[in-house]
Amino acid sequence: AGNSRNYDYIILGGGNAAGYAARQFVEKHGVAPHSLAIVSAEAVAPYERPALSKAFLAPESPARLPGFHTCVGAGGERQLPEWYEKHGVDLLLSTEIVRADVKQKTLTARDGQQMQYDKLMVAVGSGVVRLSDFGTPGAELGGIHYLREVADAERLYAAMKEAENQEAVVIGGGYIGMECAAALANNRLKVTMVFPEEHMMPRLFTPAIAQHYEKAYRDRGIKFVKGKLAQSLSDADGNGRVTHVHLKDGTVLPARLVVVGVGARPRSELFKDSLEQEMGGIKVNAQLQTSDPSVYCVGDMAAFPLKMYGNRMTRVEHVGHARESAMHAADVMAGARHDAYDYLPFFYSRVFNFSWKFWGDTPKDAKTIVAGTMDPKLAAVWIDQDSKVVGTFIESGTEAEEKKLKALARHPHKVDATAVEAAAAKGGVAGL
Ligand code: FAD
Repeated sequence: AGNSRNYDYIILGGGNAAGYAARQFVEKHGVAPHSLAIVSAEAVAPYERPALSKAFLAPESPARLPGFHTCVGAGGERQLPEWYEKHGVDLLLSTEIVRADVKQKTLTARDGQQMQYDKLMVAVGSGVVRLSDFGTPGAELGGIHYLREVADAERLYAAMKEAENQEAVVIGGGYIGMECAAALANNRLKVTMVFPEEHMMPRLFTPAIAQHYEKAYRDRGIKFVKGKLAQSLSDADGNGRVTHVHLKDGTVLPARLVVVGVGARPRSELFKDSLEQEMGGIKVNAQLQTSDPSVYCVGDMAAFPLKMYGNRMTRVEHVGHARESAMHAADVMAGARHDAYDYLPFFYSRVFNFSWKFWGDTPKDAKTIVAGTMDPKLAAVWIDQDSKVVGTFIESGTEAEEKKLKALARHPHKVDATAVEAAAAKGGVAGL
């Protein structure tokens, strides 16, 4: 009615999850033309976000859209805008929703247009944490980069090309920091990484794994300043562009360009008073349904029960979960399945010529065993207090090795830790 459009299904957000959800609705459930809409603040159709810190920043023939629209990242079809048109999926781009009313089942965009849904899939993802969020002096200067959307990656790429052979500082030692530092070095910048922890990727890497990668980084000229916090940024010449990063201990690092990767935060504003929240995101049950039965939530935003770990609640900011939860929720919304979402945590990254994968869990009290160090290959298993292998990691594994490690994490069973160590000493994961 009026300027309000009615849909059976609306996917709110046009990111990684949205592309996979749309495919599932179209291919598995054959939705009627114009009964499904994707509403996205972004100007482009859903794409594989991880590419932004990898192939997009490559020095030679970097990836550009439309090359990495979903679902190419998982070996699927590349869904161009024409794909959505052909299948009657309304792709409402550059449309930021500013109000959601779950009682009336309406969404209102910034420009006033309204949409009505029967069922809603919330897939708004997360936004970057900025230095200004901490009130860091100098956070507003030019030359400071964050990475979440295509426009960010384009700006970073252009800045990187201008800053060849000059100093860059990467703030943050997580995967964004790691991948961006590698990209900057590949593009011939002189890179220093600064982070407050003892080693890179502290949430996942053991000291031994971190050492392996840090050596590779040093070999490629990247410097580390560990255990230190960036306190402020300044422009020595007063022209509004960053020139230096000041650390808490008084160290001053010159920087023509700064990349900040200090974390992401779920975009919870729209539903914070209408849907139950948990762990900073929207709480869902085993079917990915929120506290409102017509609303589902997937991807970075969803706080969901991990079936294989006794339904412990978690929130995961990884693309594997975005894809799988989106497809599962589409099935549930279409009435085609009722079973529980059963996710095996999975994370991967690619830097330089390295490519690592991790499956499972890293309990705090795990007895970690590094199972093989075949340079450049590295594998690790996390063994819990019950002597069960619960987490597995491999650097540049073969298909067979990866399959094996994934299965180990998927079906935790008791192992003889001494035997695992002995196998490791002989050089690999084959002994597991
Ligand atoms: P997103 O892909 O973030 O999509 C959210 C969408 O919602 C966006 O289109 C956004 O514009 C839209 N939106 C938000 N608010 C509104 C609103 N109010 N109205 C309309 N639209 C809105 N994961 C890995 O596992 N491995 C990796 O190597 C990896 N690399 C990454 C590299 C980068 C640079 C980044 C940023 C992330 C990376 N990730 C990686 C994480 C992965 O990309 C995310 O977990 C995944 O994109 C989450 O999917 P999503 O659909 O939940 O959210």
